[in-house]
Amino acid sequence: MLIVMKPGVTQSEIEHVLEKIKHLGFCTKILINSSQTSIDITDGKGSIDAAIFENLTGVAETVRPQNPYKLASSQTLRKKSVVLIGNERIGGDELTIIGGVCAVETREQVFNIAETVKKSGAKFFRGGAFKPRTSPYAFQGLGEEGLRILAEVRSHFNLHIVTEAMDNEQVELVEKYADIIQIGTRNMQNFSLLKRVGKSKLPILLKRGMSATLEEFLLAAEYIMAEGNENVILCERGIRTFSNHARNTLDLSIIPAVQKLSHLPIIVDPSHGTGKNFMVTPMAMASVAAGADGLLIEVHPSPENALSDGAQALYPEQFLELVKQVKVIHEVLSPVTV
Ligand code: PEP
Ligand code: MN
Repeated sequence: MLIVMKPGVTQSEIEHVLEKIKHLGFCTKILINSSQTSIDITDGKGSIDAAIFENLTGVAETVRPQNPYKLASSQTLRKKSVVLIGNERIGGDELTIIGGVCAVETREQVFNIAETVKKSGAKFFRGGAFKPRTSPYAFQGLGEEGLRILAEVRSHFNLHIVTEAMDNEQVELVEKYADIIQIGTRNMQNFSLLKRVGKSKLPILLKRGMSATLEEFLLAAEYIMAEGNENVILCERGIRTFSNHARNTLDLSIIPAVQKLSHLPIIVDPSHGTGKNFMVTPMAMASVAAGADGLLIEVHPSPENALSDGAQALYPEQFLELVKQVKVIHEVLSPVTV
């Protein structure tokens, strides 16, 4: 059972509830995030009567969680979470655009695309320095040299950097250069990596495993949050199905499903979600129409020569047009303030 405390609850009110639970022979875990404190009653003998707590001062309500994830659950936190990165916000009423290259290939390629991303008004730049490739013979990324180029982009264009860490050893290095650490689809259930980034001070962009259910996805987020890092941004990037007209099947129904069950922001990656240039813009527009908090889009100055994911990369002009289109859709959907 969860005891959700009122906003502004005092320490002595929390202590009082904890005492009561202890007296009844049960254990607790305190769950705190930016705007709410909840007390999770973990184990003990027999069942516990919610009525004992309902009238205590400082208690808002008692909840019996229906799901195995607690910190990620909308039952624990009723308000949508907003992840802060410098002056930027991801979640809430924002539409976040993360544009950039699949892999950092050269400084010139990255600067070319960073200029386009900046011009579009987006505040986040993505690029892979460590690339998870299906073939060991394919381009694996520039490693730290790639991270250094990304850091140059940050200072030159004042863009926040999103980049992937593929294993525990890479996290410390990525932390030195990135503003958001990406966990890729293949690592969504790499539990030791999830625990490691759960100890990071940086927000985590968690991509959905390519065959993960919504519950598995939210439990992966829970792994990160349970270590103390509540700044998780979910990302739908397509799943494996029998359909073969696209690289993956972009599952946009997960947006309202996440929004019902969780307070975490969810963005969509129609680049990996479709794998095809001509599908990216329509699916980006559909994502925003369905309520996504943002988009992650791959761009390349010359997609036919890209070292990875060229088939899905947008040309710079296509990216600029996409951003214009989705902003219009987002504005139409935003609540009108009078
Ligand atoms: C990427 O974003 O470059 C990437 C490899 O994505 P995913 O993990 O979704 O395949
Ligand atoms: Mn890619």
